[in-house]
Amino acid sequence: VVQGERMRDIGEFAFLRRVLADLPQGPEVRVGPGDDAAVLDLPPLPVVVCTDVLVEGSHFRRDWSAARDVGRKAVAVNAADVAAMGARPVAVLAGVVAPPDVDVAWLMELAAGMQDGAADAGCSLSGGDTVAGPAITVSVSAIGVVPGATVTRAGAHAGDVVAVCGRLGYAAAGLAVLTRGFRSPRLLVDAQRCPQPPYQQGVVAAAAGATAMIDVSDGLMADLGHVAEQSGVRVTVELGRVAVPTELEQMARALGVDARTWVFGGGEDHALAACFPTAGTVPQGWDVIGRVEAGAGVDVEGWPDWSTALADGGYEHFRR
Ligand SMILES: [Mg+2]
Repeated sequence: VVQGERMRDIGEFAFLRRVLADLPQGPEVRVGPGDDAAVLDLPPLPVVVCTDVLVEGSHFRRDWSAARDVGRKAVAVNAADVAAMGARPVAVLAGVVAPPDVDVAWLMELAAGMQDGAADAGCSLSGGDTVAGPAITVSVSAIGVVPGATVTRAGAHAGDVVAVCGRLGYAAAGLAVLTRGFRSPRLLVDAQRCPQPPYQQGVVAAAAGATAMIDVSDGLMADLGHVAEQSGVRVTVELGRVAVPTELEQMARALGVDARTWVFGGGEDHALAACFPTAGTVPQGWDVIGRVEAGAGVDVEGWPDWSTALADGGYEHFRR
């Protein structure tokens, strides 16, 4: 990449040639990038597809995140959605809108980040498109296969236990740090720049008999609210069962906020939350945090004013 080179200098085709030059493709990819469309060899299994869009200013800021982080995150959020259905990500496709004066180097790094994200999730970046437009917009679609059972948000039953796998609150803590103008601690800031979802655990949970599953993108309570609503049940989380990591406690104390609002209200870590028929069926690496009951809505047992606290913390309010 030539220093200072802009997209308007090289055009779309030259850019795509550079990006696609040596993108590794997994065994399921019969035709990779460069043709009219990619061709995948998928076994006769249910196929999961999803898409997600990130817009500069709303979902990322170029002064907070490197292009590589943005690309990696764009793939991660989609692969997490695939995992949350009990599926294994196979391929992702990317659509990128960028102003003509954007640095070619920035877009090359964006593509490299997408490749990193695909490698993290064990899938291939198998195609994409790039067009000129007013704001940087990154759209990624993911394709996955379901080796066992598909797990939706709608299958939880009264009597199930609720368990989580992955980080909660780190990305929100990182956002709090960044919005106050700090760039450290790196653990938290990096968690905001790019999540590390437990991709393989989606299939594991499905094999263990998960009745419902979701990835935590909007916040633990908000997302369990989606499960409660779509399953027609009530989800009760027990405060004492949800770990508040020391790193978050320390940062929250320094900033004068309640770390629990990050853990219960912060999204973007893309942990997996799932319901299982009994505590004995919960896979290793998952922590039981609550239970499913007859009724509606969500509650935190042991934290009477949790809903107000999360709303005060700036998270979208939702009814119990
Ligand atoms: Mg999701």
